[in-house]
Amino acid sequence: MSEHHRPCWIEIDLEAIERNYVEAVRRAGPNRSVIASIKGNAYGHGVSKIVSALNRQGAVIYWTGHVDEATALRREGVNNKIIMFGGYLPSSIPRLIAEKLIPTIYDPEGADAVAAVANGNALSVYVKVDSGLGRLGVPVSEAEDFILKLAKKPGLAIEGVYTHLPFRDLSGKNWALGCASKFADLLDRLKRRGVAPEVTQLWGSSGLLADLPDSCNTVCIGHLLYGLSPVLPEVATAGDFQPAFTAMKARLIHVGHHAAGADLAIGSSYQIKNARVTGVLGIGTGDGMRRAIPGKKIEVLVHGKRAPVIGVSLEHTVLDLTNVDDPRVGDEVVLIGASGADKISLSDWGEWLGVGALEVILNFSGRASQQYANPADNIWGRFASAGPS
Ligand SMILES: *Cc1c(COP(=O)(O)O)cnc(C)c1O
Repeated sequence: MSEHHRPCWIEIDLEAIERNYVEAVRRAGPNRSVIASIKGNAYGHGVSKIVSALNRQGAVIYWTGHVDEATALRREGVNNKIIMFGGYLPSSIPRLIAEKLIPTIYDPEGADAVAAVANGNALSVYVKVDSGLGRLGVPVSEAEDFILKLAKKPGLAIEGVYTHLPFRDLSGKNWALGCASKFADLLDRLKRRGVAPEVTQLWGSSGLLADLPDSCNTVCIGHLLYGLSPVLPEVATAGDFQPAFTAMKARLIHVGHHAAGADLAIGSSYQIKNARVTGVLGIGTGDGMRRAIPGKKIEVLVHGKRAPVIGVSLEHTVLDLTNVDDPRVGDEVVLIGASGADKISLSDWGEWLGVGALEVILNFSGRASQQYANPADNIWGRFASAGPS
């Protein structure tokens, strides 16, 4: 078993991931497949455990933009179909294909790189169309010509055509609907010219949650699998989707008692002047901890009571524990999650740090140790009861 001496950890509920996947499949209905988006280390949740959980519910295909993470999955024996969103140079395409990763093509350079290693086979590719987002893809106005040419090129076979139209608010929704109809027209024109790819995809979590009309046979879902809503309540509520990132906790590594009025300030960043009792956590900016944006104050829960953060440095966070009864070294501190009757959420942290809930997760994940709610998946052998100590 791995030893872990830094007492701060996050808790991830893989059963929530499984339930969210089942709910996404239900919402997609009988005429659409769901492909799981596992980019960005599964949105910071740990890609390897997330894939095991989704495979338990029958997920077949994954989509990511991270070649090294996808390659690591292959090393672990994951044989699912994995499609690459992009995120690589044409020179990496031979490596992708050797790892049975399916490339996305959006320019002639990518197409040539696939054809060069085809060796008499027809290698599957996906084509990404930019229908208005302006990020990655062949522009929708040029896509018909590009795809028809690609369809005739020896060495590759167009398995899928997709686009991406994420949105957050009502005006974004209207924008996405307009762009979606251009993409639907493109698919119609291609069909008339004899190109009908097996997979067509246009909506991600925002389109699925808002229940928008769909001309495609597949949805690619990320946010909702992790229980995160990418849209504002004015567009849709998260319904039955539940956050899988359930807690972030740490233990007090030190408790300090100070005389009233002692000046403990380091420069102006510590405001310890009024703190009679301080607590220290072994988590600092090096672990993803951040200072609050101006006007906001980070709070944590100790013995069910709120305690403000009064200092953050590279490896330490200092709490004002003046209002906490009898704090001791080793006591559990809840940074995210419930303690007693109180609860601190990802969106509280989002407001304190001036970012979204997903960015809060990405900030901490990968540096704090991860605990998974299913004991069999728990890299530290135990769940929640004690945590690494
Ligand atoms: C990330 C991504 C998705 C999934 O988006 P979510 O909003 O996380 O569901 C779908 N399609 C493409 C092209 C993406 O890059």
